[in-house]
Amino acid sequence: MKTAELIAWLQETDASRLEQLWAEADRVRHANVGDEVHLRGLIEISNYCIRRCAYCGLRVERTELARYRMTPDEVMDSARDAVKFGYGTVVLQAGEDPGWRADEIADLIRCIKCETPLAVTLSLGERTPDEWRLWRAAGADRYLLRFETSNRARYDLIHPVGPQGRPSDRIAMLRELRALDYEIGSGVMIGIPGQTYADLARDLETFRELNLDMIGVGPFIPHPDTPLGQAGHRQDACATTAEQPPANELMTFKMIALARLTCPRANIPSTTALATLNIKEGRELGLQRGANIVMPNVTPLKYRALYEIYPAKACIREDGAHCNFCLRGRLASIGRPVGKGQGSVRRDS
Ligand code: SAH
Repeated sequence: MKTAELIAWLQETDASRLEQLWAEADRVRHANVGDEVHLRGLIEISNYCIRRCAYCGLRVERTELARYRMTPDEVMDSARDAVKFGYGTVVLQAGEDPGWRADEIADLIRCIKCETPLAVTLSLGERTPDEWRLWRAAGADRYLLRFETSNRARYDLIHPVGPQGRPSDRIAMLRELRALDYEIGSGVMIGIPGQTYADLARDLETFRELNLDMIGVGPFIPHPDTPLGQAGHRQDACATTAEQPPANELMTFKMIALARLTCPRANIPSTTALATLNIKEGRELGLQRGANIVMPNVTPLKYRALYEIYPAKACIREDGAHCNFCLRGRLASIGRPVGKGQGSVRRDS
């Protein structure tokens, strides 16, 4: 699809044309990755963060947020829960937290790989190539690092350089991760203040250029205690001007569907941010418009509300068993079977 065509779809308002887009995305999803929905158990292992990302509620300046770091034993318990619930993968996610030392993460990966049949996905931010190499050698399978927006100037504005002073070139980092033989996942937020339709089209083209194994897109949800969540910006984010794509459900479905059409074989989650906008059926609709993955939370209940990347996140009052039960019911309601095994794109099991 050409850039102009992507932009036209992103700006499409005609309901019957959009029905065609959903149907085509659903057909391509079925033909390329089948009907199975793979479940990835998300463990939010720490909410400490040294970065100052303008959009994120975990940013270091939020001194009023109570911080937690799970112990390795707690993480292992959550991983065992994931096995018990029949998930094939755990995703270890955190703020950028040097308090989880690289060797401790490596030990944890080895423990999970030794004790369970789980694939291990890491989502730990911008760590060093040496750390990524260590973790890959310890058995980690995949790495998630969203580039957030392909508009470099906008990205630099919302994602200041870290305390190490290393330039934050996430696209280059994804290439490094690929070279280390990780399956790589990335994605963007939709409706960031100042973002344009052309930016979103460029995001989709970048997904294809990077040949991503996983693509996660979700609406930007303003957090009032962050620079981007302040009133002036918030208005921007919600207004639909000729140039500013709204941070809403419809725009997210369009991005999911177009990601499916541009990267037919990728794993594409229907995200929690989507469920946060529409708890009733946001995730289900995502799965019917191109997505094939869901990431049920297995973080211990007592930590969930503290992993506050944005406010009123879906599923923070439920425990892992409840999330499992709830999601299986939702998948059954739309006639989609739960995937077996690790649900890998490149090395299927
Ligand atoms: N520290 C890790 C994990 C961050 S949380 C990292 O930087 O990769 C995972 C994702 O949540 C981020 O990549 C971002 O896309 C998303 N996110 C953060 N704040 C958000 C917000 N206010 N609204 C929507 N998504 C947000």
